[in-house]
Amino acid sequence: MSQDPIHIIGGGLAGCEAAWQAAESGARVVLHEMRPERRTDAHQTDRLAELVCSNSFRSDDADSNAVGLLHAEMRRLCSLIMACADDCQTPAGGALAVDREGFAEAVTQRIESHPLILVERGEVTAIPAQWRQVIVATGPLTSPALAQTVLGLTGEDMLSFFDAIAPIVHADTIDMSVAWKQSRYDKEGPGGEAAAYINCPLNEAQYQAFIDALLAGPKSEFKDWENVPYFDGCLPLEVMAERGRETPRHGPMKPVGLTNPHRPNDKPYAVVQLRQDNALGTLWNMVGFQTKLKHGVQTEVFRTIPGLEKAVFARLGGLHRNTFINSPRVLDTRLRLKADPRLRFAGQITGVEGYVESAAIGLIAGRMAAAETAGRPFQPPPATTALGALIGHITGGHLDAGGRSFQPMNINYGLLPPMEAPRRGADGARYGRGERGRAKKKAMSQRALADLEAWRAASALEPAL
Ligand SMILES: Cc1cc2nc3c(=O)[nH]c(=O)nc-3n(C[C@H](O)[C@H](O)[C@H](O)COP(=O)(O)OP(=O)(O)OC[C@H]3O[C@@H](n4cnc5c(N)ncnc54)[C@H](O)[C@@H]3O)c2cc1C
Repeated sequence: MSQDPIHIIGGGLAGCEAAWQAAESGARVVLHEMRPERRTDAHQTDRLAELVCSNSFRSDDADSNAVGLLHAEMRRLCSLIMACADDCQTPAGGALAVDREGFAEAVTQRIESHPLILVERGEVTAIPAQWRQVIVATGPLTSPALAQTVLGLTGEDMLSFFDAIAPIVHADTIDMSVAWKQSRYDKEGPGGEAAAYINCPLNEAQYQAFIDALLAGPKSEFKDWENVPYFDGCLPLEVMAERGRETPRHGPMKPVGLTNPHRPNDKPYAVVQLRQDNALGTLWNMVGFQTKLKHGVQTEVFRTIPGLEKAVFARLGGLHRNTFINSPRVLDTRLRLKADPRLRFAGQITGVEGYVESAAIGLIAGRMAAAETAGRPFQPPPATTALGALIGHITGGHLDAGGRSFQPMNINYGLLPPMEAPRRGADGARYGRGERGRAKKKAMSQRALADLEAWRAASALEPAL
């Protein structure tokens, strides 16, 4: 076995989980954390795994919620973050919430007392040549000097500093008796597809009411450190509307080159286009709809768009500071940088979003690095599991293999291969629409946990090289 330690940069959710998993697999680890020597704009303490905002790990229901499923998978893989969260639970109904200080203290204590982990405080600004195995887990607020290093390794257009997020809709909640599929001017894409977009038509009254709601809705304010210089290419929709009520109609909502087959004689006044967002075709993003509208209002306002009245959103829009790499372009399937495979990435910097998702990628990255150090093969978990689906999202499951429109995302069922929803319950009675949706999620969760167990058993049997 190689004696070189694995160097993990960043002692947040992902870095701590990666360190734990690698050390529990027998590897030596040096965990580098810059706090307290150098602070971020959001962290308040010098503890490892500090939660910078909410104290919630979201739903703990593995039967009907994808993040609950991720919790269950991580518990089965002996996650440190989940173990400490379970130990520090506070009452939160169906959610898993934690005592934030107790949680960070518990993680810090377990990491610092692990015999194979050495914690070194101090900012890492460059990757020394003698580090043979590195995991970069420096999160959304990666220090500027290290971001510069990553920029040099990945290329200028491969690192984002702001997250301009357009909402994403579950395809099966779009009303296709109102919307239709067509590309502008029926232009064929590289794959020969001439109907690549879903189009939702608005008449003049609907457009004006939509703009009114957009302008009137409450917006999230940026913190000082998020003083965002808007790029004209990704202006929030309401900023565009503030520049002129008709501006969106000449931008992302322009109605040209499209004919509504449901009402061929009615020319829409404006059109909202959605573009396929994942290879499975289960998720579609609203093109050009990045917005600072508060989340509750977004659902209300976007459901006024014809065809989206019953839309269920996999993710709502937003714009905030977030350092992340264009993972589908720059990482291989083992989370290694193609340009320098000594480096693995983990956590939010890879383009997942949220405490749990970040820790989940840390878990896999830690196990991958330990396997590589020991010369053991490592197969990632299957795509039918929440863990596998997240890895698929960041390393190439994304529709655009070029990664041009890659955007960070929370785990959701739309990232897993779809299943036919059962029509009847165990008693033979026909399900209603809502019951059917719940039964489908439960079936997908059961498949995920069964496949995870099979993968775990097979991985344990993998022979050493
Ligand atoms: C303001 C804000 C609010 C958020 N609110 C939520 C929320 O409510 N819920 C949620 O699920 N997610 C939230 N997130 C996202 C959240 O940050 C991530 O989900 C999660 O913390 C990411 O884990 P991570 O390990 O990738 O990064 P982090 O937890 O941020 O850990 C990265 C660590 O790397 C260290 N570091 C950075 N640069 C260097 C360097 N050069 N050398 C050494 N160490 C370095 C940092 O000090 C930090 O400890 C929020 C993010 C921000 C910025």
